[in-house]
Amino acid sequence: MIISGKELSTKLKAEMAGQVATFPEKYGRVPHLVVILVGDDPASVSYVTGKAKASEVVGIRNTTIRKPETVTEDELLSLIRQLNEDDSVDGILVQLPLPKHISEAKVIETISKEKDVDGFHPLNVAALWQKQPCTVACTPKGIIKLLKAAGVTIQGKRAVVIGRSNIVGLPVSKLLLDENATVTIAHSRTANLPELTRQAEILVVAIGRPKFVTADMVSEGTVVIDVGVNRDPQTGKLCGDVDFAGVEPKAAVITPVPGGVGPMTICCLMENTIECFLRRMSR
Ligand code: NAP
Repeated sequence: MIISGKELSTKLKAEMAGQVATFPEKYGRVPHLVVILVGDDPASVSYVTGKAKASEVVGIRNTTIRKPETVTEDELLSLIRQLNEDDSVDGILVQLPLPKHISEAKVIETISKEKDVDGFHPLNVAALWQKQPCTVACTPKGIIKLLKAAGVTIQGKRAVVIGRSNIVGLPVSKLLLDENATVTIAHSRTANLPELTRQAEILVVAIGRPKFVTADMVSEGTVVIDVGVNRDPQTGKLCGDVDFAGVEPKAAVITPVPGGVGPMTICCLMENTIECFLRRMSR
């Protein structure tokens, strides 16, 4: 079974649009998401455009602020502080990666926890690991929604996550653990990776290497979630971290790239923006 993140996200966005349509009467306005884009990296431009389009579908007000590659760290931080103070703004997202002269850590820490729709702020991360209410990072949150929508039982399963980044590998491992999976986190220094991945009942791959996971690394009936977004060096087309053609016949469930995890990430960004808005409205 191929799980379409595209279809699920379309359905969830339609439900959110219905919810947001009731907000002007209840709260006097709709949620407002501000996206800051530094420079003109084509991948970042396309992600920001996708976020603006999704906002339009859901009925969220979206403001995209573009800054040149040469913007200083101080300028960017003072813009964020200004947006933190702005009562009409519910969510702030700075598109990553940033130019080398700007500290991503400082940028993330400067966004107020209440407006951190990406769920990257250290206080949100700490809250996630302590099972406290928080904004959960969009990609991991979307992965759990995909698994549940596909009817996958997570509890009691052996899950292997390849990748230990702050934005995908670590938070998705914690969410799987919270769903009572038994989780192993693999990385570039893991010994005998294929032996480990063959034991997985749920395999989440977030490494950024085209078609890295091949059929011999996966057992029959495995649930495979491919987070990678890469260019296939042979065809130049988008591809995941999993060799889809080889692995799909063995997998019980698998996500395609594109059209799998990616659309769910944007969908969860919309959900996080609504959650931040509602929390601010209830203060
Ligand atoms: P990242 O920060 O570069 O982390 C990559 C992780 O993969 C690291 O933990 C690294 O291990 C591990 N790794 C690299 N090579 C490996 C190997 N040969 N064997 C085992 N582990 C290996 O990447 P990321 O930000 O998590 O993103 C991963 C992929 O997901 C990228 O393709 C990215 O574009 C994609 N992504 C997609 C979405 C979406 O919405 N679809 C969102 C975010 C990211 P070490 O820690 O040992 O270096």
